[in-house]
Amino acid sequence: MVISHQMTAFEEVNLLFDRSSDRLNLSNGLREMLRRPWRELQVQVPVRMDDGHIEVFTGYRVQHNGARGPYKGGVRYHPAVDLEEVRALASLMTWKTALVNLPYGGAKGAVQVDPALLSQPELNRLTRRYTLNIEHLIAPNRDIPAPDMGTNSQTMAWMMDAYGQLHGYTPAIVTGKPVELGGSLGREAATGRGVGYLLMEAAQDLEIDPQGARIVIQGFGNVGSWAARLLHDSGCRIVAVSGVRGGVYNEKGLDIPALVDHYRETRSVPGFSGGENITNAELLELDCEVLVPAAIGNVITAENAPRIKAKVVLEGANHPTTPEGDDIMTDRGIKVLPDILVNSGGVIVSYFEWTQNLQQFHWEEDRVNEELRKTIVRAYHEVRDRAASEGLTYRQAAFDIGVQRVAQVIELRGFL
Ligand code: GLU
Repeated sequence: MVISHQMTAFEEVNLLFDRSSDRLNLSNGLREMLRRPWRELQVQVPVRMDDGHIEVFTGYRVQHNGARGPYKGGVRYHPAVDLEEVRALASLMTWKTALVNLPYGGAKGAVQVDPALLSQPELNRLTRRYTLNIEHLIAPNRDIPAPDMGTNSQTMAWMMDAYGQLHGYTPAIVTGKPVELGGSLGREAATGRGVGYLLMEAAQDLEIDPQGARIVIQGFGNVGSWAARLLHDSGCRIVAVSGVRGGVYNEKGLDIPALVDHYRETRSVPGFSGGENITNAELLELDCEVLVPAAIGNVITAENAPRIKAKVVLEGANHPTTPEGDDIMTDRGIKVLPDILVNSGGVIVSYFEWTQNLQQFHWEEDRVNEELRKTIVRAYHEVRDRAASEGLTYRQAAFDIGVQRVAQVIELRGFL
């Protein structure tokens, strides 16, 4: 199939959704309802900068589908984010929460800003203004934001505080908060931990030995750095890692704790003495068993997919692969575990955080991690079994399970 290179991220996700709707025989009306966001808001976010001048940023909150529960999804701060990308990410949240069977719908928010260029007080003011401007759409039983690229637990603390000034103490309004403010133990590491659990569980089916396999991780933010740390602690060999400025490679395996220290000091991966510098493009094409793209979207495309040498790709990032890149990898026999399964650990533990907040009760970290493992492993088994019984790729199976669950709930609610 020839796919135009002009497709937006939302059109790409909808191509996967449409293929799934065909397999599931959904009616045209239902497809239309599931494809398009239920509600979307664009807001101005004016901020008084430290030097006194005013800058006006653009913010979004897209609520893609609320059939299975309150909308759920992160808030991204990125200079290149636009409405189509937020729609794509919101739609992925709908299928992700359904796939791992959390009682949530899907949403995403964003502000078009480079957070590295703002001071902490500027980011605090920006976050508060954004929160006030979307305040009428969110609530613990309506829509619950969380961190995503460019945001973190501090951002969530500011959001909770701004919301609380209007509504009183409401920790369940956001997840991914600092533990001191009602965040869950294990939430920060959860996405990376989920990647690790999945690799261990799927290794046998994928015919790889997790201890001997050469693992390559693109991205050293929250997902990539935690995945690297936890996999290294389990005795795995991480041969390459990269950040925005490039990466490092060591065939014998990188000393990840030393790399974490180097990154903390220099905010950069290249230059680490325990490996040779490589570019992000080179890293993706390294000879390895497992490749984990855990950075930005659209990094595996029609252009480089023919040269990917990994046996297995675990998508830690959201939407790292274009549909063309995906088709090429499938044709070449590369097994791809899709983003909505692989990176679901974050929203799974967000769900545990929200339930703890609603009950004003704290779980031990071991309980959080064990429940995370059970939830992501159950979802993996469902994906694997459906892929095997229906002759589908893991991505097709994951989409079919998610889309089918949302479609069923729409029927049950009877609101059509
Ligand atoms: N931003 C994360 C994701 O894309 C987490 C969302 C959440 O916890 O609500 O899945």
